[in-house]
Amino acid sequence: MAEVLVKKLHKAFPDGTVAVEELNLEIKDGELFVMLGPSGCGKTTTLRCIAGLEEETSGEIRIGDEVVSGLRPSQRDIAMVFQFYALYPHLSVKENMAFPLRAANRPESEVEERVAEAARMLQLEPYLTRRPSKLSGGEQQRVALGRAMVRHPKAFLMDEPLTNLDAELRADMRAEVKHLQQRLGATMVYVTHDQTEAMALGDRIAIMNKGNLEQLGAPMEVYNRPASLFAARFIGSPPMNLIDAEVTNGHLTAAGDLKIKAPEGLTRGQKVIAGVRPEGLTVSDGGEGVRGRVVSKEALGDETIYVVDCEAGLFHVRMPATARFEEEQVVAVRHVGAAPPAYDPTSEKVVS
Ligand code: ATP
Repeated sequence: MAEVLVKKLHKAFPDGTVAVEELNLEIKDGELFVMLGPSGCGKTTTLRCIAGLEEETSGEIRIGDEVVSGLRPSQRDIAMVFQFYALYPHLSVKENMAFPLRAANRPESEVEERVAEAARMLQLEPYLTRRPSKLSGGEQQRVALGRAMVRHPKAFLMDEPLTNLDAELRADMRAEVKHLQQRLGATMVYVTHDQTEAMALGDRIAIMNKGNLEQLGAPMEVYNRPASLFAARFIGSPPMNLIDAEVTNGHLTAAGDLKIKAPEGLTRGQKVIAGVRPEGLTVSDGGEGVRGRVVSKEALGDETIYVVDCEAGLFHVRMPATARFEEEQVVAVRHVGAAPPAYDPTSEKVVS
């Protein structure tokens, strides 16, 4: 396996669309690196440049020790898995997996050995003689993974490979991809617009916005301290509560006199937007806190999400299932736990 370096990547299409502004990424050997962002932010284009399916306008891409600019995809020693499985319908599972090796004229003994190894790791042994149409979506996806594995590539590039699958299967396959990546010690660049998938899979997550890197970090770093309002809105479900507040004596104070623990390094009178996760608020049926009205509740089994209308806005609050508040009930909301990140309202970047 190998590291993948993206240096000052810029990609403009002939029609003038700039898909990637200037991107620098250092993807480590053996890392599961997730590129996350909304549609059109440039993640697929970046992946396609790494793969050699698009030519960069400027910048440099290295895979291992090699500068790959100008090399064809087949010369880059990478494997790609895309949203659509793109299996050959007329070939058996075994022949689908063997295809890249046969195309590279590898000896038959190696083909047999590598396909058997992939089939074992992916638990595809019972299906080797079947056609893809006789497999479930998840099994087909495993064959696509197997076909990517057999060449022992330097890196795997994956573009929303699980998008076609239903929710339950997606979660299973997600775990399988992660497990496989760990067992292979594979360098993997994984593109998704699904923040849950990014959180569950990534060793690190690169959040992209309009052709630029918005934030890079481990999942919990990104979750606990989004670098900007864009990242704050994008990570977490239900989303972070973004609350207009002013720095007062020892607190951030929001409308209705909601008191939020202040992070360090702010000055009194400074206006900020506090980023409070739903678990950073709590609801009670009286006492301390600002008054609000329960607008809706969603029971998720072990916890319930309440939406509460307060003077300072509509808040999402995560509570244990033992809490029992009803719609329309007037409640008190208060902040609990550590000081949240604070954002500058103009730059929209984290300031503390
Ligand atoms: P999605 O999740 O929808 O695939 P993405 O984040 O992967 O989105 P890209 O596909 O990389 O985004 O596209 C980035 C920008 O480049 C978009 O504005 C897109 O319209 C544009 N773009 C992509 N391919 C081309 C092309 N061949 N010609 C012109 N513009 C393009």
